[in-house]
Amino acid sequence: MPALDLLVKNVRVVRPDHIGAADLDIGIAGGRFTRLGPAIPASEAATVVDGRGRLAFPGVVDAHQHWGIYNPLAADTRTESQASAQGGVTTGITYMRTGQYYLNRGGPYEEFFPQVLSAAEGRSYIDYAFHLAPMDSRHIAEIPLLIEQFGVTSFKVFMFYGGFGLHGASASQRDFLMIPDGESYDYAHFEFVMRGIQAAREQLPALAGDISLSLHCETAEIMRAYTAIVQQEGRLTGLEAYSAARPPHSEGLAVSIASYLAHETGLPTINLLHLSSAKALEAALIMARAFPHIDFRREVTVGHLLADFRTASGLGGKVNPPLRSRADVEALWEHVLAGEVDWVVSDHACCRDEMKFGQPRDDVFAAKSGFGGTEYLLPGLITEGRKRGLSYQKVAQLTAQHPARRFGLHTKGTIADYNRQQLELAVRQVIPGAATIRTYAVAGDTVHLAEPGDTNRFYAGHDAKGKLIGLAGKAAAPGYAGPIIRL
Ligand SMILES: [Zn+2]
Repeated sequence: MPALDLLVKNVRVVRPDHIGAADLDIGIAGGRFTRLGPAIPASEAATVVDGRGRLAFPGVVDAHQHWGIYNPLAADTRTESQASAQGGVTTGITYMRTGQYYLNRGGPYEEFFPQVLSAAEGRSYIDYAFHLAPMDSRHIAEIPLLIEQFGVTSFKVFMFYGGFGLHGASASQRDFLMIPDGESYDYAHFEFVMRGIQAAREQLPALAGDISLSLHCETAEIMRAYTAIVQQEGRLTGLEAYSAARPPHSEGLAVSIASYLAHETGLPTINLLHLSSAKALEAALIMARAFPHIDFRREVTVGHLLADFRTASGLGGKVNPPLRSRADVEALWEHVLAGEVDWVVSDHACCRDEMKFGQPRDDVFAAKSGFGGTEYLLPGLITEGRKRGLSYQKVAQLTAQHPARRFGLHTKGTIADYNRQQLELAVRQVIPGAATIRTYAVAGDTVHLAEPGDTNRFYAGHDAKGKLIGLAGKAAAPGYAGPIIRL
């Protein structure tokens, strides 16, 4: 029987750790990459595919989707995972919360989340995971349970929900969010969410690096005031009016508040979601300098990189935060090219035409927020990015490696021999903080960088500056056995 189920030949492999694209063959067995090398013999595989010289990117990790927001979760899991697969997305991390939309119910996650899991079970074409939003104090108390029992390591805060609905002003936030009487979804709640997550990180040190909080940064008070001004003046229409009603400084202010709360609570793993404007990015970079002990990640959506409020196709482009001016779009690209954006996502929220528009159809304030995008996340980023000098390697970092690392998907985000990755993971556990691992071999009384065929191997971990920080022998990973040595 051939060792490989599938062999993809004649492709140019793009990887986040390598400059350019390498002419390599990709061997797959048991659903995983197990061989990567030049000229792997076709006789070693049951099926051989000719890649015809095309680029092979790592499966995209689309870290921001919304399955089940406007359609039943079971239906969306099927159709939206299909849309993901069409765009080269092999992992979708989707946001879920209690309250209106989604499952349209409240209650503790211990009861709610199993319903989410069973609605999605068996229906997805891709790998998927959930980010969860603690909406009330009971949910904060459930954080350790969500991590340990359900494996959820990523949490979310929607900063504007306390005073504003999903599509605009709402007088009854408690009804919208379905939180108990006496509870408020406000800055104090966000602070306690951060304290709850940080306490869980301290209780579970082995998982702490994978546990983070994401924030939707917009400010309800600013949005309410500017929405009233824009509607009263009646000067602007369409998406431009919507952007003016939720102005960029509303994002900048929310970024600053979120960052100070992270500092106050000592929660270092903060993801600033879908920064849409020059001001939002500026605020995020100022906060990174102000609080260097906070490990910020900055997210941008492909929608905000591709369209401005003039070039988008009508009110279908309504989204939160809004599509911005051309100057903002170009500013986002500058930050992407400068390496100041960590990952690009779709914020995919499929809303069909029948549901998207309100009465009258051309009133932007009556339309619903959100649109799809996972299908064109990778192609859109490549097409627009290449014109601006974005390398394939950077594309692989922005769409795969960086989100995979942040959200604890340690064998995703690149194209590499899975067994080798498992080994590296095991080695990294005993050499914490290793940025690179090099393999050496012992021959007599000399040590050299290992070559294929060397048997007496050990592993040396180096920090980001290249300093040796630890050694490990053959690790207890699949396919490997032997002791591990800590320096
Ligand atoms: Zn979103």
